[in-house]
Amino acid sequence: MEFRLIDRIRERTAQPRDDVRLGIGDDAALLAVPAGMELAVAVDTMVEGVHFLPGQAAFDLGWKSLAVNLSDLAAMGAEPAWALLALTLPTAQSAQARADFVDGFADGFAALAREHRVALVGGDTTGGPLAMSVTVHGFVPPGRALTRAGARPGDAVLVTGTLGDAVAALHLLRTETASGSDAPLLARMHRPTPRVAAGLALRGRAHACQDISDGLVADLGHICAASGVAAEIDADALPRSPALVARFGAAAARDFALDCGDDYELVFTAPEADVAGIVDALARLGCGATRIGRIVAGEGVRVRDADGHWLEPAHRGWDHFPT
Ligand code: ADP
Ligand code: MG
Repeated sequence: MEFRLIDRIRERTAQPRDDVRLGIGDDAALLAVPAGMELAVAVDTMVEGVHFLPGQAAFDLGWKSLAVNLSDLAAMGAEPAWALLALTLPTAQSAQARADFVDGFADGFAALAREHRVALVGGDTTGGPLAMSVTVHGFVPPGRALTRAGARPGDAVLVTGTLGDAVAALHLLRTETASGSDAPLLARMHRPTPRVAAGLALRGRAHACQDISDGLVADLGHICAASGVAAEIDADALPRSPALVARFGAAAARDFALDCGDDYELVFTAPEADVAGIVDALARLGCGATRIGRIVAGEGVRVRDADGHWLEPAHRGWDHFPT
């Protein structure tokens, strides 16, 4: 069904790869996994009104639907290769509006796909409430994937990039206080950068790794649970972008950084002795890395302020939006 829409998607996302024996157009794609590699597979769905606001630019939705999936591969230390796209489009739209949306969406998807040489090899197109579900496939040498298990007491906790921009952008949109100078913050929300190169560089270096989509404490909590350890975080060590600090001041920026859902940075643990080498390597990749705390025995994630006081969960600032 909807063959012309599928043609538009295929043309706009074209990305030749030798390992795609048969791509879009048949009943299934035929793909050649490189000999000896394991396949890392992930899927993420975005639904209008749940994961994004109505009226969102089609290009940004195309970009972000792939970005959140590439972020999952990055967190596994996998090299992205192929994607599938299940697209549900509103039936009430005119054919022209639908084609315009598909063009913008495919262009946004393709812009990021090209950066990572990802081939869109198939999908499904249906009518219904606007939603998009992307499945990604990547390669990882056997036994080399980064998982949530493996953090050990004594490890340092690090994050890539900076935290808090995306949740600050959401705050600006909700309160209708965004202005032109907030473009860098809004870009972090609408076009997140998956840390694919960082994930690959962390193979064999990180003990545990995960991407941040729900918030630092929640996502680091998954590492702690899977590894059977606890984490202590220094709130004032959290890396914050110059744009975030300039817009909200250092203290509010810290609260946004703690809250920090949707940034799609990586949080990972590694031996203290390797921190300097990792920080160097990730600086060379452009995203950088910052040590924010350490792994200890126990369970859960605790956050400490500059004076060494433990912050109560209720006072950590998840809802501390400045008025
Ligand atoms: P079928 O009925 O066999 O599932 P479809 O008409 O759904 O066939 O799809 C035809 C071809 O187009 C298939 O190769 C499918 O993978 C591809 N395709 C359909 N929708 C999309 C999409 N949104 N993005 C990429 N490829 C798609
Ligand atoms: Mg189908």
